[in-house]
Amino acid sequence: MIDKQLTEIDKEIKSYQKNENIILVAVSKFQSIEKIQEAYNAGHRHFGENYVQELAEKYEQLPKDIQWHCIGALQTNKVKYIAPFVYLIHTLDRKSLCDEIQKQGKKHNRVINCLIQVAISPEESKIGGCTFEEFENLYEYTLQQPNIKVLGLMGMASFTQNEDIIRGEFRSLADLYRKHPEFSILSMGMSSDYIIALQEGSNMIRIGTKIFGERI
Ligand SMILES: *Cc1c(COP(=O)(O)O)cnc(C)c1O
Repeated sequence: MIDKQLTEIDKEIKSYQKNENIILVAVSKFQSIEKIQEAYNAGHRHFGENYVQELAEKYEQLPKDIQWHCIGALQTNKVKYIAPFVYLIHTLDRKSLCDEIQKQGKKHNRVINCLIQVAISPEESKIGGCTFEEFENLYEYTLQQPNIKVLGLMGMASFTQNEDIIRGEFRSLADLYRKHPEFSILSMGMSSDYIIALQEGSNMIRIGTKIFGERI
């Protein structure tokens, strides 16, 4: 079941893949260790979690070659729990978080890869993400942090059936992404909207429900 879903999405991804790799992050929040292990056994290695405690527990219990993505709103005081192992933080959106990631990265002697989350929808602006106006200033700030490497951008579209709205929001992020040729990752698209995201140039999609079924 899970491997079938992964294969199906991988096939869809291939049709949008040009010269760059598109990465599928399997979003495993609230999913059991057994289900994650099943996806792992099918060959999948990129997994995403929203909550730090859950992420740290699953890291402990699962194979160590999993690449863990932190995709949820991140509290400054929780960075220390994921700093030793996290593969990519998608939700860097403010200077205070930047300071803490820098501090923890230095402590663990590693450069922590991050995406800057930009609020592209009204809902997202309530839960996280910097504004388009704040972006350049925040990005400049990250460039002064030796233990942070910003690889690109992340955004979440509105929860709506209106495809034009979703497309417009993804396009606004893709436009910003293209202004920065040094970036390599554009993380956008979830179960309900990843096809639109891929059409707009996403190269990292974050899919939960469509792979694992409804969350319990
Ligand atoms: C939960 C979540 C996803 C996956 O959502 P699905 O609709 O289950 O695919 C992707 N991105 C973020 C930031 C999430 O919180």
